[in-house]
Amino acid sequence: MATVDGSVYHALIARGVSRRSFLKFSAAMAGALMLPAAYGPRIANALSTAKRLPVIWLEGQDCAGNTEAFLRASHPTVAEIILDTLSVDYHETIMAAAGRQAEDARKATMKAFPNGYLVVVEGSIPIAEGGIYCTIGGRTFEDTVKEVCAGAKAVIAVGSCAFDGGLPAAKGGPTGAVGVSQVVPKATVVNMPGCPMNVQNLTAAIVHFLTFGSLPATDSLGRPLFAYGQLIHDQCERRAHFERGEFVTAWGDDASRKGWCLYKMGCKGPETYANCPTARFNDGTSWPVKAGHGCVGCTMPSFWDQMSPFYGRLSTTPGFGSDVTADQVGLGIVATVAGLTALHAGGSYVRHKRDAAAPPPPAEAVEAGTATGGTQA
Ligand code: SF4
Ligand code: SF4
Repeated sequence: MATVDGSVYHALIARGVSRRSFLKFSAAMAGALMLPAAYGPRIANALSTAKRLPVIWLEGQDCAGNTEAFLRASHPTVAEIILDTLSVDYHETIMAAAGRQAEDARKATMKAFPNGYLVVVEGSIPIAEGGIYCTIGGRTFEDTVKEVCAGAKAVIAVGSCAFDGGLPAAKGGPTGAVGVSQVVPKATVVNMPGCPMNVQNLTAAIVHFLTFGSLPATDSLGRPLFAYGQLIHDQCERRAHFERGEFVTAWGDDASRKGWCLYKMGCKGPETYANCPTARFNDGTSWPVKAGHGCVGCTMPSFWDQMSPFYGRLSTTPGFGSDVTADQVGLGIVATVAGLTALHAGGSYVRHKRDAAAPPPPAEAVEAGTATGGTQA
């Protein structure tokens, strides 16, 4: 395999990555992207010659959780190293430069790579009152995002805040926070929501870009299908307990110690599209439901408001009257998923009772059949 100065492969070899590990990584990326195994060699070949990608990473109203995910340092894997090999020329949190020097670095990258850099945006963009709630170098963040994204090959919005405003956009937020797509509607933006996003998914999206010259296919909300195409509920290791009507009903109860389903504790897995059960976090060690906490639906639109209460079932379904927004109507249409799930939950109890001659379901079983709301791609 040829090595080319400045290529991703060259950078990996320089970091001590063996060819075997590199090929294994390429095959794993094909799997992560839900491509046939035959794409593994093609990915390896593309990464062998792909030049390191200049990246401008912008941060607006955020907690830097996605930066933390990006920087995690323990047990470096090929996936982590490949992120290191990106040429991150501007990243406010990690760059040594500050003030004018930092802004100069951003401008220099934009000039050196006209239409040739990748932009990652983390955090929401406040647009209320002329965008004054977030300014960098004397300019509004909104202005900076517009300027930088205008010259980008592609834009990746990481985390829920860059997706649709996230926490700063939750009810009562005063800053008029919105996501990247709302500020640069004509840009090629891929949304990777999550609080934070899973860095394995970011790696896969970048590998896709390096291999095919484009970001992966997305759903109607701009989320890559390979990572956001399936319900959490359909991939969950506790699903068998859901089917059998075996639910945790109090934190720390016997059912919780047995690892039963968290549906009655408010788990939003049935309403949430993400690959957390398979991609997992912390080097693939675990994910929230495996650790005993229900999914709160952090990859879904307006999740702080729409998925509340986090520890209870959703109680209302948006209607279709004149008092609801287009977004809410969209959520209402897809609430069928949640409705079907609720029926499914009730049905599970019926089956459980019939098949196992179990005692009648407790009142909460009926309550499970009232769950509504939810969102979908
Ligand atoms: S409700 Fe939650 S815990 Fe239960 S099976 Fe679905 S995703 Fe898993
Ligand atoms: S399990 Fe649910 S709340 Fe947790 S990270 Fe995944 S989508 Fe977000």
